[in-house]
Amino acid sequence: MANIVAIVGRPNVGKSTLYNRLTESRKAIVDDFSGVTRDRHYGQAEWVGKRFTVIDTGGFVHGSDDVFEAAIRDQVLIAIDEASAILFVVDATTGITDLDDEIADVLRRSSKPVFVVANKVDSAKQTHDTHEFYSLGLGEVYNISSMTGSGTGELLDELVKEL
Ligand code: GDP
Ligand code: MG
Repeated sequence: MANIVAIVGRPNVGKSTLYNRLTESRKAIVDDFSGVTRDRHYGQAEWVGKRFTVIDTGGFVHGSDDVFEAAIRDQVLIAIDEASAILFVVDATTGITDLDDEIADVLRRSSKPVFVVANKVDSAKQTHDTHEFYSLGLGEVYNISSMTGSGTGELLDELVKEL
């Protein structure tokens, strides 16, 4: 499949919220794709006339912390293999965690384009310092709110250039 965008990141950063926003008007198609695998959801999205498939990873991860981290790492490796571009979601309200660092280490070794997405910046008035996410070593940081949609247009403009 061409034009696949994978959403990766640790739990609770807002991956599924972003996925739902990107695939919002295409629920019927999402249903066709869901269940392809147990822990990955596929949906269709479109931006400025460009269509792409979005993968939401890590929805059904269970087990101990070790199993949990290994499962996230597996999802990141699959994403690197399968996707044309990767949205690496981090949480602007918590800053960088150890798990963020681990995921970033894996992503830095890939040749696929990675977009660092600092989520939960709900309004322009909010002053979360997302500057620290540049230290992940993955380039530009895109401040967005998956909840309100703030900043997602700028992100998508850049994303579709890679598709
Ligand atoms: P996932 O585990 O990475 O898939 O994260 P979810 O999409 O399930 O979201 C985790 C929590 O963060 C939920 O309570 C969401 O409502 C919340 N959340 C997601 N996006 C935003 C956002 O842009 N702003 C705020 N304030 N909360 C958000
Ligand atoms: Mg989720």
